[in-house]
Amino acid sequence: MGNARVVRCSCGRVELAALGAPITSVVCYCDDCQEGSRRIAALPGAQAVREPDGGTSYVLYRKDRLQTLRGAEFLKRNKLDEKSATNRVVATCCGSAMFMSFDDSKHWVPVYRARFQGDAPPLEMRIQTKFRPAGSAIPDDVPCYPAFPFGFIGKLLAARVAMLLRR
Ligand SMILES: [Zn+2]
Ligand SMILES: [Zn+2]
Repeated sequence: MGNARVVRCSCGRVELAALGAPITSVVCYCDDCQEGSRRIAALPGAQAVREPDGGTSYVLYRKDRLQTLRGAEFLKRNKLDEKSATNRVVATCCGSAMFMSFDDSKHWVPVYRARFQGDAPPLEMRIQTKFRPAGSAIPDDVPCYPAFPFGFIGKLLAARVAMLLRR
C-alpha cells in the first residue's frame, strides 16, 4: 500500500493517513449531509463544509485503510439525532469536518474531500441529487444520480468482499 494520502485539519493538529486506493469519491446532496455540514460550519472558527451547490464532497475508504497519525484527542463525534448510528467527526482544534463514522457494522469511512492534502482522488459521481437545494445548478462533470446508484452500492459491496478475503 505504497500510496498513502495525508488528511489534515486546517490548523494541522489532526492528521490521518488514507492508505491505498479509495472505494470511490462522491458528492452527496442528501438532507442529512446538508444538515450535518451546515451544523459543522456553524461551529466556532469552522469553515464552509457544503459546496455552493449544496453538495458535500467525500472520498470513501475502507475502514481498515484509514489511520489516525496524530491529534486523536481533538476528534469529536457529532450526531444529527441521538439515536442515529452516523457520526460526523470534527477536529475540535479548528472546527474542520474530518470524516464520518458509523456505530453499526458499515465497513467504509467517508472522508471529507476538502481535508486531503495535495491531490485528492478524482470525483466519480454525484449522488442523492433529488435532495439538492431548490434552484441549485449541479455541474455535469461526472454522472449524477437522484438516489444511490447501483454502481455506488456495487463498489461498497466489492470493498466488503475484498476485506473478507483480506486483500
Ligand atoms: Zn485543527
Ligand atoms: Zn448524504
